[in-house]
Amino acid sequence: MSDLIKITGLSFFAHHGVYAFETKNGQEFVVNARLWLDAADAAREDNLDKSVNYGAVCDLIVSYLQQHTFKLLEAAVYHVMKEILIQFPLIKQMEFELCKPQAPIAHPFENVSVTMEMGWHTAYIALGSNMGDKERYILDAVRKLEDDTDFRSIHMSRLIVTKPYGGVAQDDFVNGALWCETLLSPKELLARLNALEAQAERKREIHWGPRTLDLDIIFYDDLVMDDSKLTIPHADMHNRTFVLEPLHELCPYFRHPVLKKTIEELYLALQNKEQR
Ligand code: ATP
Ligand code: CA
Ligand code: CA
Repeated sequence: MSDLIKITGLSFFAHHGVYAFETKNGQEFVVNARLWLDAADAAREDNLDKSVNYGAVCDLIVSYLQQHTFKLLEAAVYHVMKEILIQFPLIKQMEFELCKPQAPIAHPFENVSVTMEMGWHTAYIALGSNMGDKERYILDAVRKLEDDTDFRSIHMSRLIVTKPYGGVAQDDFVNGALWCETLLSPKELLARLNALEAQAERKREIHWGPRTLDLDIIFYDDLVMDDSKLTIPHADMHNRTFVLEPLHELCPYFRHPVLKKTIEELYLALQNKEQR
């Protein structure tokens, strides 16, 4: 993402702060922001409709931060960025610095600020259910994601019926996959998916046992991460036909960032292995 709009020194009066006198009296705030977008069409055609009107972005920043009051600069930055990314869909990624040059600090200082980044990330999510009305659990969860402003461009594969995996005797599964863009970080995304599982009354009893709803993160951009709560890409996806088959429908040429093979290559390799 190489095209950049830069806003520097946008200043206005607002009422953020931890102290009562700050929210009562207000003070000056200054914003520096960088917006990344794909402006190739706008540039070629000299067409504002295909770019982002920076005047309108500045209007939104000022009106949003004047109409809402936050204790923390972090919270102000987080919420205003989310609003900008939702209202200006061409902006893919942004960095936002909120400065408070008159902050209540008992020493001479020049400036204090908080800077954060946020943007739209591509995520692939595996969907599964093998209890109760399996399709309904999956479709309800997808509908909730569609209604959630932290997600957009949701594409779902067909749902398939598969045999259980992992050696626990249980009912057949319904599986599918979903492609989406999300504003959430990987950790936030896992928490949101776990909340949807909980809403489907999922109980974690036996590992790999029956469940009303299972939502796993398969990929998140090209990210590679591994900590105690979250492994991305999903550690066992390449051994699972029920993950690769729906994923193949959505993104056959996406390349696994660790195995360096496309979904199509992984899918065919697994089919060959299983036929042997
Ligand atoms: P599997 O992960 O092998 O498909 P499972 O889906 O049955 O097994 P769960 O009981 O749903 O396992 O999840 C166990 C834990 O796995 C979760 O609490 C979560 O912290 C962790 N986890 C690690 N990586 C991922 C990921 N990519 N997506 C979802 N959960 C993950
Ligand atoms: Ca799983
Ligand atoms: Ca899971």
